[in-house]
Amino acid sequence: MTSTTTKKHTNLYENVGLQFNKAADLIQLDPDIRTILSKTENEIIVHFPVKMDNGHIEMFTGYRVQHNNVLGPFKGGLRFHPQVDINEVRALATWMTWKSAIAGIPFGGGKGGIQIDPSKYSAHELERISRRFTFALGSNIGPEYDIPAPDVNTNAQIMAWILDTYLSTLPATQRNSSVHVVTGKPIASGGSLGRDKATGQGVVFHILEWAKENNFNLEGAKYIVQGFGNVGSWSARILKPYGAILIAVEDHTGAIACEAGIDPEALAQHVAANGGVAGFPGTTPIDHETFLKTNAEIFIPAALENQITEETADWLKVKLVAEGANGPTDPDGDAILQKKGIALIPDILCNSGGVVVSYFEWLQNKRSEFWDLEEVDYKLKKKMVNAYHKVSEIARQHKTDFRTAAYVVALQALEKVYKERGLFP
Ligand code: GLU
Repeated sequence: MTSTTTKKHTNLYENVGLQFNKAADLIQLDPDIRTILSKTENEIIVHFPVKMDNGHIEMFTGYRVQHNNVLGPFKGGLRFHPQVDINEVRALATWMTWKSAIAGIPFGGGKGGIQIDPSKYSAHELERISRRFTFALGSNIGPEYDIPAPDVNTNAQIMAWILDTYLSTLPATQRNSSVHVVTGKPIASGGSLGRDKATGQGVVFHILEWAKENNFNLEGAKYIVQGFGNVGSWSARILKPYGAILIAVEDHTGAIACEAGIDPEALAQHVAANGGVAGFPGTTPIDHETFLKTNAEIFIPAALENQITEETADWLKVKLVAEGANGPTDPDGDAILQKKGIALIPDILCNSGGVVVSYFEWLQNKRSEFWDLEEVDYKLKKKMVNAYHKVSEIARQHKTDFRTAAYVVALQALEKVYKERGLFP
């Protein structure tokens, strides 16, 4: 993390540094531990060849950054997106360290990805790209060392290809005991019930805790969602029975609105069939600014980074921002939200349901168990509620915002372990 900042906070890794320093200053984090945590541990960049459907070879660039593993193996997703670069992956890996520490699960932080637009490749090409990336990473991943999972534009099928490729590189005697090398797998290949919806489910558990704590009635409350992929669509589907009304949605194909309410289930089906929210029957197309200026009470950003900024934070009229995405709010946006009195449940707390159920999947694989959905949901709820109240309590104690409080929870957990273990040699 560098201390120089650009005026517009577009460098995600610098944003992480600013957030980290604010919390470290607040609790006067041990300077040596601050030095350790300010750097990522390993940064792997691989360039690998893949044969395309037309018979020609294309070179791809893949990343895996491992930030810290003092609390447990490196853990975090792989994304396929043209915007993937080393700074983005460093930031995302670092957030995973904080996220796991806040949720109280024995994992460190890692993240990776490939710089591609997956919509430009056939399913067969994506399979070969995923497999060659896994092969190129080699022993940089492993079931007790670094465990990938789905993220933006990756899914259970891609995890199955990664699993199969990784296992194929092992001696036959080790294959069945290594299926926990990735999480977010299809159920039949060792996945967990509830993992697909887990991030959205966690977002909703956090919104429910916030509502309880603030005497906020969700029945009839209006909300808007940015991004209708895994996180956005599951959050909306799970919120529906609580009576909250979805009135606007935005994604890469445009934004749509309907005051009377948009049915999340029907919209999810429309997105699956058409690739995006645009053109959903019964809704009016609106522009980006109008979307963010919607008169609603809750905003769930569940797409990409740097959406709530110096420019756009002023537009928001909501009472609560629940961050389903990683890094949707930059430090300027954060400051404006605080000035406006808009509550925020930060990404490293709000979207940790995914990695928590990944942990459950990892445990089930290690123990050769298969939990039912009730058990997964019950255990996830317990983790989410505990984490929410730990952060809320710290925010009260230190009279600080929820993001900084969440960092404090993570930094104190890491500081404790470093102090107990000391540093080799
Ligand atoms: N990609 C998800 C995240 O950003 C899940 C990570 C995981 O399950 O390891 O939290």
